[in-house]
Formats: sequence, C-alpha cells, structure tokens
Amino acid sequence: MTPVVLAVDIGATKIAVGLVHADGAIAFQSRERSPVRAAPSLALIERLGRAAEAHARRNGLAIEGTGIACGGPLDLEKGLVLSPPNLPDWDRIPLTEQMETSFGAKAYLQNDAAAGAIATALWDNPDAVRDVTYITVSSGIGCGVITDGFLYTGHTGNGSELGHIPLIYDGRTCNCGLTGCFEAYVSGTSIGKRYTEAKAKGMATPRPYSARNVADAALAGDEEALAFWQSSMGMLARAVRAAADLFDPALLVIGGGVTEADGELFAPAMALVGSSMAASVGQRLTVRKTGFGRNSGVASAAAVAWNEIGSATGVKVRIRE
Ligand SMILES: [Zn+2]
Repeated sequence: MTPVVLAVDIGATKIAVGLVHADGAIAFQSRERSPVRAAPSLALIERLGRAAEAHARRNGLAIEGTGIACGGPLDLEKGLVLSPPNLPDWDRIPLTEQMETSFGAKAYLQNDAAAGAIATALWDNPDAVRDVTYITVSSGIGCGVITDGFLYTGHTGNGSELGHIPLIYDGRTCNCGLTGCFEAYVSGTSIGKRYTEAKAKGMATPRPYSARNVADAALAGDEEALAFWQSSMGMLARAVRAAADLFDPALLVIGGGVTEADGELFAPAMALVGSSMAASVGQRLTVRKTGFGRNSGVASAAAVAWNEIGSATGVKVRIRE
C-alpha cells in the first residue's frame, strides 16, 4: 500500500478534495462549486471524500491522515472553523472531529494561506529556504508566513491577515466590517465588483463582471479593462510589498485564482511587485507564482497533514503547540 493523505480545500467558491503523495504529487482530485452554506458544504465534502476513499481502495493507496485548509478565523486548538467572512452561516464547525469520524484517519486543520506557505516550504522550495511568505489572492486575500522554519501564528493563531491591512483611509467596506482593506480592492471578488460598478455608471441594467471577465477583456485588447487590471495589480503589488517589508522572506510566492490569469497579464504585475520593493529587501528576495498552479488548494491542504506525518523532502515546518 502506498501512503497518501486525504486533502480537503474549502474555498468560498470551490471545494476540492484529493489524495496526495508524500512528495506533493496529486494522485486524485475532484472539485465542485461550493454550496457556500455550511450544511450542504459538509455534505459535499463527505461525498467527494467517499469518492477519494473509493479511488484509494481501488489503487492500493492507504490514507494516513487528512489535511484541511480553510479560510480563517479558525480555532486551531479545537479544530473549529469559527465564522469566516467569506463563508456566511459557518459558525464553530468542528471540522477535524467530523472528518475523523467520517474517514478514520487523524485530521489536521490549518488556515488556507498558512497551508499554502507550508506546501511551498515542503515541495516548492528548491533552495530549502527557511523564510517563506505565501500570499493567496482569490475570493479573499490570505497570507501565510514561515520565519526561520516556524509558522507565524500570532497569539490566537490568526496572525498575518494581510487582506485586512488598510490600503485606503475611509475606503470601501470590506466583508470583515472594516473599511479600506486590501481585500476590498484586489481580491478576485473585489476586482470584479469594482469593475462592475465602474462600468455600471449611467446604465439602466448593468452586467456583472468577474475578475476573470476583466482579465479576458484586457487580453482581448479592451483598453479600459487593461487599465483597470493594471491599476488593480498595482494595488496588489502594494500588498505584496507590505508583506515583504514586514516579514523579510527569502521566498515570496503568490497563488490563488487571480494568479491563474494568463501569464501575459500577470507578468507585468510581478515586475511591478519587484520594482516597488525597497532595494534592501528586493535584492535578496525571490518573488514568483506558485508552482502548484490550479492544484495549489489541494496541495496546500495535503501539506498540513504531511507536515505532521513527515513528507518525502524531510522539510518540517514547526508549529506552535
Ligand atoms: Zn477587511
């Protein structure tokens, strides 16, 4: 039997469940649109998990543990999903306990961005550096930080909330209830929302745009969309720079749905990030997109479990008990 872990990635728009080997290779994956509300989401996780379990049985794979990645805030000690702003009606869900009851193996829960940082440190880190920052830009903005091999958690385990650092004084209202947060401007959801508002001016029946629509229009030569996309990437560059200035990583990796935009559109954003760094930080820092591409969610969730069990690379991120 080949050991794998069951990986559960809970996003605001998609839920992905997979089986992942100790070297980060994906053995099996399925993902579906998230029903958003807690009860049907948990039912979907159960169904996708059973499909993964059946695949494991047919292919001689032994599930050694379950890794779960979910947007915060979480109670890591008790394995609870508290009440993430992007998952309305989720409230104190005992997710690790439910997964252990359903699938038997020990379950480990982690904030999705922290999970991304762990996956990067374990499997997307050819120089084996010990200072890694991972920023995920999808429905929200998350940030996971590993400093000298230790995961930065903060006092309550919900530290490094880059998305809710204020970008603009008295700015747009964020899902978290505060105003002016980075997330209210440059998450995938916010890019779509702001473009919809900009285009709707003076229109009786405005059409809604997603971040992907903006990226597609920009690629197709729509100058208004391109200018809007570029200004959004300029704001994202500020968020990335804030993280680099705060945490001084050796490797800063960006993942999430927004980074799946065509390379042609994302490359200028990366250049902008580089040029906006303070020289002292920028010269010693590698900034790039995640090597996991569209698999980053499942790889991140899996890394949470493999980090505890012992991954193939031997790298272990230390996590405060
Ligand atoms: Zn906020």
